[in-house]
Amino acid sequence: MTPVDPTMPYDDQNIFAKILRGELPCTKVYEDEWAFAFEDIHPQAPEHILVLPKGAYVSWDDFSARASAEEIAGFVRAIGKIARDKGLVEPGYRAIANVGPDSGQLVPHLHVHICGGRPLGALVPA
Ligand code: AMP
Repeated sequence: MTPVDPTMPYDDQNIFAKILRGELPCTKVYEDEWAFAFEDIHPQAPEHILVLPKGAYVSWDDFSARASAEEIAGFVRAIGKIARDKGLVEPGYRAIANVGPDSGQLVPHLHVHICGGRPLGALVPA
């Protein structure tokens, strides 16, 4: 996959759009009115969950600029609920949203990675 250009318009053929529409399989973890979450196919930690807003947003940048207050609240609350339900609050976890080429974003639908289940090390690799 090529890195995402975060300035491009939303492409409804991206792989996560297809998962959201049920056209591709996933291991679903959570769904509500605002968010959909599933297990990352290449987990980087014992718990590695991807949380997507249901709306069509390329990245965190796009979402923060265009989403309604309701969408933002619903999405952020879903991330918190999933982490709580997985028992990750006490041991700790990390929530990461990659935006654009320097971050390594590969899929052009906003997703927040929830990683936990072991000490996660440095925030940004050297
Ligand atoms: P990012 O680099 O932030 O865009 O992260 C994309 C993530 O999506 C990576 O961690 C991949 O392992 C994950 N991924 C790609 N395709 C799938 C898929 N079909 N199901 C679940 N996770 C996927």
